Amino acid sequence: MTKNNQIKADYPDIFRDCFDFSTGDGWAELIDALCSAIDGHKKWGYIDRGTGDTTPPDIQVRQIKEKFGTLRVYVANATYEVDGMIRLAEVIASRTCEFCGSNIEVTNSSGAENVWRKNLCLKCHEERDKRLGD
Ligand SMILES: [Zn+2]
Repeated sequence: MTKNNQIKADYPDIFRDCFDFSTGDGWAELIDALCSAIDGHKKWGYIDRGTGDTTPPDIQVRQIKEKFGTLRVYVANATYEVDGMIRLAEVIASRTCEFCGSNIEVTNSSGAENVWRKNLCLKCHEERDKRLGD
């Protein structure tokens, strides 16, 4: 089972309507933590600060993808708390190699021309540029 499919299987309630989960394995640990936080918020951590209501909205992860080297997470019925969790995950992803998970020398461009941007460590950029150059 792929890491992304394992995450979907671990949080079935929030992945019911997900149509795209296509990020690399290097971000899987971070996304697992994000989904754990969202799932917990929905199951037992929700409270409407205005009314005190503890019935959560039907929070649903719709899409998790990479765009221009950045993590994008789209969630239906997101609360302010979920928006904050997603923003934090996006910032951490910007400092994490999407392929191997390293946080050392991560950049979203190798400087190579005509190559789609990816947020990778220098070693993974080198290997990718070599692959794409062949
Ligand atoms: Zn890497």
